[in-house]
Amino acid sequence: MHAVNSHNRDIAALLNAAAQRAGRFLEQLPSRSVAPSPAAIARLARLDGPLPEGPMDPTEVLRALDEYGSPATIASAGGRYFGFVIGGALPASLAANWLVSAWDQNAGLRATSPVAAAIEDIALRWLLELLRLPKDAAVAFVTGATVASFTALAAARHALLGRLGWDVERQGLWGAPRLRVLVSDEVHVSVLKALSLLGLGRDAHEVLPVDKQGRIREDLLPKLDDRTIICIQAGNVNTGAFDPARVICEAARNAGAWVHVDGAFGLWARGAPSLAALTDGLETADSWALDGHKWLNVPYDSGIAIVRSEPDHRAAMTCSAAYLGSSNGREPYHYTPELSRRARAVDVWAALKSLGRSGVADLIEQSCAQARVVAAGLRAAGFNVLNEVVLNQILVSFGEADVTHEIVTEIQHEGTCWCGATVWQGHTAMRISISGWATTNDDIERSLGAITSTAARILEERQKTTRRTVAG
Ligand SMILES: *Cc1c(COP(=O)(O)O)cnc(C)c1O
Repeated sequence: MHAVNSHNRDIAALLNAAAQRAGRFLEQLPSRSVAPSPAAIARLARLDGPLPEGPMDPTEVLRALDEYGSPATIASAGGRYFGFVIGGALPASLAANWLVSAWDQNAGLRATSPVAAAIEDIALRWLLELLRLPKDAAVAFVTGATVASFTALAAARHALLGRLGWDVERQGLWGAPRLRVLVSDEVHVSVLKALSLLGLGRDAHEVLPVDKQGRIREDLLPKLDDRTIICIQAGNVNTGAFDPARVICEAARNAGAWVHVDGAFGLWARGAPSLAALTDGLETADSWALDGHKWLNVPYDSGIAIVRSEPDHRAAMTCSAAYLGSSNGREPYHYTPELSRRARAVDVWAALKSLGRSGVADLIEQSCAQARVVAAGLRAAGFNVLNEVVLNQILVSFGEADVTHEIVTEIQHEGTCWCGATVWQGHTAMRISISGWATTNDDIERSLGAITSTAARILEERQKTTRRTVAG
């Protein structure tokens, strides 16, 4: 008994040490460079060495991790990281994530974690209500939007082949009727990966043309039929644009086709009343994929798959064995690719509990308002904003591709903020994504200042070089 108690005291002390180190890390975020220094990355070698022959004091393990690991992080949890589409971690959600790790629950079965199963029930109900999606849709808590699309498209594959008399889970795709997959010219690579994992082929689809913002051209929509899966987007990763969901879903419904929505970050816009027009009609699709770890600001990793037809979702994902038992409630493992699994829904539950409906709306609207400020500031400085800033994504070009690349690299190096490069319909651009709860208006001003002054300096240096070359 004594030994156990002292063991628990040691763990509490260790976790307190972890909390202190994490607290210091978070406190430094507002003042540190967003990118780690090359020296900090080089020091990661100190974590290496031969496989330890014996045990080490956990306090020392933690110390090494913090001393060499923390400085080599990208400060994406802070307010001035604008790369890809990456949210931070809301305080309540981060704290819940820690507690979940202490619980160490296997969230696959109700029997292995009644608490995880109960919280999934609540979180999924809240999500469907917040996103205004069908109340009886099925929901799965997975690792990210890639796996969420995989899960949802497995349900689509089941449903469409099932109607043709084919049981794909039992028979596989050997000799199955051919399905038709339509994706936008702007499809996210993760949807193609999901299609390839499902045996539907990464390149075996038809491509739908898009307009200048990357939206599917509804006037060029081909005739749909009941063998067709059509993948649309809520939130283009470059422009933030939304495909015309209402028109596409209506055509699909009439034809018996299945509409899958990749809404990794954009679907959260349904939590903001001011964006209702943009997200109109998405509720009439058949399945949706989104990420908790993006705009909801849940720690990694957190993806969510939602399928209108619960039986199709369950049939595609279920696995049954006598030893797994059964219960009266919803069994989480019937809906996910995984069996054993972390209690991910708890982080989502904590985010929704701490923000509430108005908090989610404020978070989304804050990011969009900040995006408009950044776009206006870039335009005022004479730079070319390539997209209509309808959401949280901004594309800016500084001229030729190599100039834009040089400026992006220099901005990352300068450290005030972090933005990446992309190619938008043939034009190289810097992409700015504002998705973090922690981004303040001051962060926006500082970052905008750093971007415009860095760009101006590089452009001036280039001009001087050109003049010298011409003179020489
Ligand atoms: C991020 C993103 C994905 C992939 O999500 P993961 O969480 O990385 O799997 C898919 N689609 C869009 C539009 C995204 O922004």
